[in-house]
Amino acid sequence: MSLRALVLMYHAVPTDDPVADSAADPHYSVSMTRFVAQLDAIVARGQRPRSVRDLQASGTSWRAPGPVALTFDDGHASNYAAYLEIAKRGGSADLFVNPSTIGTRGFLTWTQLRELAALGASIQSHGQHHDFLDDMPPAGVWAELVDSRQCIADEIGRPATFFAPPNGRMPDGFVHRAKAAGYSGVCSSRVGLWDQGEDDEIPRFAVLAGTSQAQFDRWLRREPISMNYSLARAAVLRSGKRLLGNAGYQRVRNTLLRAQSRS
Ligand SMILES: [Zn+2]
Repeated sequence: MSLRALVLMYHAVPTDDPVADSAADPHYSVSMTRFVAQLDAIVARGQRPRSVRDLQASGTSWRAPGPVALTFDDGHASNYAAYLEIAKRGGSADLFVNPSTIGTRGFLTWTQLRELAALGASIQSHGQHHDFLDDMPPAGVWAELVDSRQCIADEIGRPATFFAPPNGRMPDGFVHRAKAAGYSGVCSSRVGLWDQGEDDEIPRFAVLAGTSQAQFDRWLRREPISMNYSLARAAVLRSGKRLLGNAGYQRVRNTLLRAQSRS
């Protein structure tokens, strides 16, 4: 049986710095204290976090029970300190960034990204802008793919090889278009484990503000019940998006999150 990787998706990792945290969405933020505990849980299992890029390149060296990869979407300024914690433990990760927001308030700068790349960080594309691709004509989708890839190549000296679509939203045939634009694959927001060799669409587990250490440990142990629950919840959210469209989905999601934070 082929091995499967657990790919985790993070956003901001706030440290109570008002400028660095200014673009963070609280629902998607994992505090530095929690993040370090999660890293230590990975290390305690004899593993070190890897990037999807490195795992794909070294596909044949995967060992049981399968590797753990860390990815960060949006390029939040707080990812700088988070990456240093990963590097301290001998690990690496992918940073999916939007060239149009780099260097603006709350986001990483190109200088920081070059420093992190020198430490082994994999700098990848989250689109030129943070726009939903399924609301866009095909020429716009193509521009998001190629412009961001070129910007990253110019600034980092190495083109992006993976693409994570903003909010996980993909138009039909998107993976095919991403590959035509030069990407090896897409890191989506579909929940599941990454089967070795299946690089077209790589599923991820979102680590959120509400993800407890106990839940995180169950994912690391690959306990089927906790994985099935996450899969079912993601399916409900996905069908909601399909039924309501982007604007409607955002409204309902915000209402649900407000209700959740009250309870
Ligand atoms: Zn995003």
